[in-house]
Amino acid sequence: MKVLKFGGSSVADAAQIKKVKDIILSDPARKFVVVSAPGKRFNSDSKVTDMLYECWEAHANGIDASPMISAVVRRFRYITDEIFADRECKLDLDALFEEFAQDVYSGKGRDHIASRGEYLCAKIIAEYMGFEFIDAKDIIFFNENGVVDAKKTSSAIRKRVFGISGVVIPGFYGAMPDGSIKTFKRGGGDITGSIVARAVRPMIYENWTDVDGFLMANPKIVDNPMVIKYLTYREMRELSYMGASVLQEESIAPAREAGISINIRNTNNPSAEGTMIVDESLLNDEEDTGAITGIAGNKNFKVITVEKEFMNEEIGFGRKVLEVLEKYEIPFEHMPSGIDTLSIVINGEALKGNVTKVMDEIKEAVNPDNVTMEDGIALIAIVGRKMVHNVGTAARILTAISKRGINVRTIDQGSDELNIIIGVYNDDFDEAIRAIYEEFAN
Ligand code: ASP
Repeated sequence: MKVLKFGGSSVADAAQIKKVKDIILSDPARKFVVVSAPGKRFNSDSKVTDMLYECWEAHANGIDASPMISAVVRRFRYITDEIFADRECKLDLDALFEEFAQDVYSGKGRDHIASRGEYLCAKIIAEYMGFEFIDAKDIIFFNENGVVDAKKTSSAIRKRVFGISGVVIPGFYGAMPDGSIKTFKRGGGDITGSIVARAVRPMIYENWTDVDGFLMANPKIVDNPMVIKYLTYREMRELSYMGASVLQEESIAPAREAGISINIRNTNNPSAEGTMIVDESLLNDEEDTGAITGIAGNKNFKVITVEKEFMNEEIGFGRKVLEVLEKYEIPFEHMPSGIDTLSIVINGEALKGNVTKVMDEIKEAVNPDNVTMEDGIALIAIVGRKMVHNVGTAARILTAISKRGINVRTIDQGSDELNIIIGVYNDDFDEAIRAIYEEFAN
């Protein structure tokens, strides 16, 4: 049994929805389907969810929302006219669209209106598939604080889907204790998929999108990077944190908790196997990767370096420096240190206008020989579960970079040896990533 989630681009128009149908029908295990609202069909197109926010906003500001409502209805009519051209549609589409218009005119909440994209899409796809529609408001429950009540939700899902072999559920929303609708954050349809998976415990949670999987490096920097076949949850977290994005962190958590593997798949290329995100205990050696699994990174960090002779002997030195950051609520990313130096890598934006104050207060706190701040540093994370076992990965990384004449500003290896993070100047970022990719891709 499998849970499937189809993202906005997979249900953007009738042609895409036909692909979705073929995918579902090609495997009898594909029983539980979660869908997003129709997304963009081409670059300059609008996502239905964005159009819905416009409907709500117009009405809330006393502007006539009818042109926006008609535009949403038109998007759905394009779909239904085509997919039901040669078959009967038992749904009363006119009534559904009218109900949606009344929701807007009667001043229903912002989240309620935003959720209608998923609601209508799921109704239509359920009818098209001959599957049962189950409303997310009847199975996904938030508590008073707006957090999903996992127990109540899981038991409602299990009860509701029991014995049914073909279900379509709208993603992105659930119900508050008073019955009103609340949405997840943008892109939150994936969270619904993961929550449904946690409840029904399928073999696999398939997340269907428009890329072949999680790539080993950013395709804007590296030409045609390899798809990562197996990725552990922990590696995924490290790569996402450093800027690689396919799935949001929150959308992994429920499936991860239940130990369910997530398979990222491409609706436009269903024969590609995609990426499997798994618990490391499920991996055996044949399925393992090369020396590294993936590379990700970000630009625009700042590095504060504090120098003081015999710093290592001074108890509380690091704490005093970090207390200054704490006072200004500045989180830090890494803290590589030498014998007489301590460097703190900080996200450029986090410092805001406090640069001089922070530097002055560090001087006051620890009376250093020197404090400097360097701007425009990029961090590159090289992530891989195999690094623990392989001798020489760091050497290969540094050799590859140095061969291109790139100066490495900082190096940091986590003690769990899951990643090596190196800092280079912003201008060297792309070239350094290419150098590392070419060294390890095979
Ligand atoms: N439709 C929602 C959005 O555009 C949720 C989703 O697609 O996952 O953010």
